[in-house]
Amino acid sequence: MAENLIQSYPENGVLKNPALPIVDQFGRSFTYLRIALNEQCNLRCIYCMPEEGIDFRTEDKLLTTDEICRFIEILSKMGISKIRFTGGEPLLRTDLSQLIHFANELDGVESIHLTTNGILLAKNINILKDAGLTGINISLDTLNAKKFKIITRREGLDLVLNGLEKAIKSGFHSVKVNVVAMRDFNNDELLDFIELTKNYNVTVRFIELMPFDSHQIWKTGKFYGADQIVSDLEKQVKKLIPIDGSKTEHYVFQVNDYEGKVAVIPAYSRSLCGECNRIRITADGKLLNCLYSQGETNLRDLMRSGATNEEIQIEIQQTMWNKLEDGWEAQHLGKDHRESMTQIGG
Ligand code: SAM
Ligand code: SF4
Repeated sequence: MAENLIQSYPENGVLKNPALPIVDQFGRSFTYLRIALNEQCNLRCIYCMPEEGIDFRTEDKLLTTDEICRFIEILSKMGISKIRFTGGEPLLRTDLSQLIHFANELDGVESIHLTTNGILLAKNINILKDAGLTGINISLDTLNAKKFKIITRREGLDLVLNGLEKAIKSGFHSVKVNVVAMRDFNNDELLDFIELTKNYNVTVRFIELMPFDSHQIWKTGKFYGADQIVSDLEKQVKKLIPIDGSKTEHYVFQVNDYEGKVAVIPAYSRSLCGECNRIRITADGKLLNCLYSQGETNLRDLMRSGATNEEIQIEIQQTMWNKLEDGWEAQHLGKDHRESMTQIGG
């Protein structure tokens, strides 16, 4: 479908038809929105934020409930069928269930997901379920309480595990555990994490560390590449069977007889950019056409200046049309570094 659409776009890339779905010049089409709801967080993961936090934007710079709803509605009309709310910590936002409910009512939106650190999950699980949430990704890098405190600089492993258990038992369509894999930190916990998949239909995903922290801890030898993780898994786990996964899950396995799945995500190696179907909106309303993009389109100010839905749609199409071929090109083009993943949403 994308190939036919490309022929209908002018060669100079100037897009004039807001009714068209979102595609780029390389034939990718975009159906998955990741939107950050805030930058604030109740943890301080060492690869994400310094202890003192970052230079958080003030409330007036962040998107309001109405603005988020308007973006979601506009995008749902442009073919977005999957939405993920992220942050910062999205469960700190009091309008989260309202936003999920709004998204759930839109034609074309098939699934609504949340990425959370899990601290506030257990006590909100019923509200989230009732609002129409379909999937939850819980970020958890260790199953050891002492290490949890080192990596997050806070207490709370028991809260996260409780949240995970409630998510599994509440019957969400998809429950995943995101583990940022690091050498000399949790590379000795691969098997412990895989055991979570024994009795539960949960996907454990080992994710490469990415260079999005002001302290650049990824340069300190902690980087643990996807190929090495896969090779270590194959050495350590008997009966590991390769199976199919989602677009960004290049390596997906199941241990024979286990309920859940295990995936390895080459988030830094970027071997899956050709499959990308994501568009990202930051908490302050900037549209990014790549996780590694150094440029951004200020949709918030466009909206606040009184732009029509059609004008916003054209700006979205134009930004995504200009997406570079892969994340390496996107990173090399720019000079600026974002201070933290909380400003992007992961
Ligand atoms: N606070 C929520 C959470 O932790 O799930 C949502 C926002 S967080 C920025 C989204 C994801 O980004 C988390 O899974 C986190 O582990 C990941 N992340 C943050 N900084 C990262 C980095 N430098 N490298 C790899 N993943 C990172
Ligand atoms: Fe907070 Fe998530 Fe960043 Fe950890 S990764 S500090 S939980 S935003």
